[in-house]
This record gives sequence, structure tokens and C-alpha cells, in this order.
Amino acid sequence: MTYIFDPGPQPSLPIEGSDKLFPIHRIYCVGRNYHEHTKEMGGDTKDPPFFFQKNADNICDGKFPYPSSTKNVHFEIEMVVALKSGGVNIAAADALEHVFGYAVGIDMTRRDLQDAAKKLARPWEVAKAFEKSAPCSALVPARHVESPAKGGIWLDVNGERRQTGDLSQMVWDVPHQIAFLSQLFELKAGDLIFTGTPAGVGAIKKGDRMKAHIDGVGDLEVRVV
Ligand code: MN
Repeated sequence: MTYIFDPGPQPSLPIEGSDKLFPIHRIYCVGRNYHEHTKEMGGDTKDPPFFFQKNADNICDGKFPYPSSTKNVHFEIEMVVALKSGGVNIAAADALEHVFGYAVGIDMTRRDLQDAAKKLARPWEVAKAFEKSAPCSALVPARHVESPAKGGIWLDVNGERRQTGDLSQMVWDVPHQIAFLSQLFELKAGDLIFTGTPAGVGAIKKGDRMKAHIDGVGDLEVRVV
């Protein structure tokens, strides 16, 4: 049997030091996972984590096209976790065994559409899961990353520091995010998890240059076109 039309390319990420690609299955994102960002968004850090998804083909590299239907597009720098295996009801103590590697990502957000969706208790896809909404660096294999639990995380726009934090400020650390997610979904090899953003989110405009950095993982430079 063949397909009635070409299904198109498999969304993927490059891997540092390898000529092989990492095929993306799903993209999960955790909301409000740093204390200071939770405060700036008006939430409570005692709540359990909550998740939303982007589409695998929303992944994007160095050029982010300013999207339609918005006047307020925000950056959210996030560490991205890539899974090499999955399952359900994964214990936090076993969770890091499923991690292939880490990357620097930006959860681009149409904040005006998100604000409207929140007011109307509507879903967030239009705010979060649009074309090229997931800029992401190459993956760094986990064996080369000292710790996903600490290290500086920051984002500059046009050379000016806008977001700054430390991975240790996460409300739910990487193992607990994987454990929670695996109670809700069957996790699989190829899944990416955007692990939340520190304080300082803000708007970009066409022509801006974002530089995102995570200690021990690397840099991601993205131009808004
Ligand atoms: Mn986010």
C-alpha cells in the first residue's frame, strides 16, 4: 500500500556530534514551572503541574516568522528534554533513564490570543501550537550534560538581557515532570518536553534577534523575520 499523497518529512532535530537526526513524536510543554514566572502570570506554585502540547512540525531553527492574527508575541526560553524511550506511570526515580538529551528551546506564544483563551476558558492551541512556534537548538546527549537540575538559563533580545534564572528554580524538576506526564499520556521515544520558563517573558517584533542560553547545554540564536 502507498499513501494517497506524500506524507511529508518526519519532523526532527539535529544532534550535537552526530550525523543522525532525532525524530520528533510529540511536543509537550509544562506551564508555570518557575516560581518567579508563576508569580508574574498570577498563578500559585503549590498547584500540580499542568501541560499543553505543540505539534511536532512546529519545530523551528534560526528563523522565526512573525505569526498572523496577533499583536503580542512573547518569547519563553525553556530547557527541552528529549526522550529515547517512554511508558506509563514512570517513577520519578527512574525518569532520567528515559532521557536521550537536552536542548535550548523557546516556547513562542501569541500572548494576546492566550489571554483571550484564558478569559473564555478556551483551549490554548491558537496561542501555543502555531507554525514555527517551537524554535529549538540541536540536542546535546545526556552524557554530555552535567545536570538538568541546575545551571543558568537566560535570553537576550538584541543584546539586552530579558530573562534570567536557574534550572534549580523549577517548581517541578525534570524527573517529576516526566512522572506526572506519564500518568496522563503514554510517553514514547521521540517525545520532547519544554520544561517551563523563568521570569521576564516579553514581546518581540520583526527584525529582533533572540539569543537563548542554558549552561552546559548551549545556545540558540533566532531571528524574527
Ligand atoms: Mn512555556
